[in-house]
Amino acid sequence: MHPLMKDAFALRPRLVAWRRDFHQHPELGFQEHRSARIIAQHLRALGYQVQTGVAETGVVAVAEGSGPGPTVLLRFDMDALPIQEETGAAYASQNPGVMHACGHDGHMAIGLGVAQLLAARRDTWPGRVKFMFQPAEEGLGGAARMIEAGVLENPRPDYALGLHLWNGWPVGWVGYTPGPAMAGASMFRVVLQGRGGHGAIPHTTRDPVLAAGHVITALHTIVSRNVPAQEAGVLSVGAVHAGHAPNVIPETATLEGTLRAFQAETLRLLEQRVRTVAQSVSQAFEVQADVSFHDQVPPLINDPEVCARAQQAGARVWPEMNVLTDHRTMGSEDMALVLARVPGCYFFVGSANPDRGLNAPHHHPRFDFDDEDVLPRATALMTAAALEVLGGSP
Ligand SMILES: [Zn+2]
Ligand SMILES: [Zn+2]
Repeated sequence: MHPLMKDAFALRPRLVAWRRDFHQHPELGFQEHRSARIIAQHLRALGYQVQTGVAETGVVAVAEGSGPGPTVLLRFDMDALPIQEETGAAYASQNPGVMHACGHDGHMAIGLGVAQLLAARRDTWPGRVKFMFQPAEEGLGGAARMIEAGVLENPRPDYALGLHLWNGWPVGWVGYTPGPAMAGASMFRVVLQGRGGHGAIPHTTRDPVLAAGHVITALHTIVSRNVPAQEAGVLSVGAVHAGHAPNVIPETATLEGTLRAFQAETLRLLEQRVRTVAQSVSQAFEVQADVSFHDQVPPLINDPEVCARAQQAGARVWPEMNVLTDHRTMGSEDMALVLARVPGCYFFVGSANPDRGLNAPHHHPRFDFDDEDVLPRATALMTAAALEVLGGSP
């Protein structure tokens, strides 16, 4: 076994204990006070310079290596989801209605493990490591808030690394995808303003419900008629709200949905067409459409060179791992905002164990992963990637 992997396995009891403690005490986005306190305490004890309360609950920690060199940013997310856990695990959530169902509890444990392994071999790597423990990844804009708060300045990172545990694969599979790896996303809202009235005399009204029906149908032509066939694009309408009574035509109807694409230009095209289609279709029904977009995240694009180096370093510490280099998901990730500014790599580490029933998908009430097997391995992979880009020797 590679010495770094051996050191990571020596840490296994602590990694599993950290993860299960975080799992028992999940916190929603921007409320990760307990998690942040534990993280800050551990990093301070290891000699890192720690800053807390960055974008509410974010933690930033810096350590200098043996001499001048590049700065690498290592990013881990901390938030849980508003889900009632159904795993029945001994370490199940003690916070009703809140659950670590995406694996961010594991990410925090891995981050603490990486910090410990790097601190222990501080005289072997040049440059600087900067940890970014981020709040509110699950659609709440934690990365954007940390960037606004200056996480990418003083010191400015030359490289950025991040990972996600991935229950779509068993432990043993790791995905390093150069170029676009996760979709960009944009949420849209269409508010249709009509004129309400009695359902028995619709000619005196301007019916936003009827307009909404036509707008929904027309929106679904955008991907098939406007997005080039070789590009990926997704449009889904996930929320439709209008009216309260069967015999009343309401004043307004609201549609909400999500757009996904791997190219920024495709995402802009989708937005532009949603605006045009919603406005012109509703105009035909004499209804006014107000179209807006929010929670926009760019596609997550890995730097091919950093990605290849992270993969090579990973293969040195874990030669038996199976590597996928073409895994792409229409899911989105706000780490994309960091990687749009700093060259880097965000990789996926298979975490399922189907034989033990640990393979429910992310965001599922029975989501759980093989923490004993994957945490030391993922910790070694991330430490190796960091040492590689710093110019140390993994
Ligand atoms: Zn998630
Ligand atoms: Zn996640």
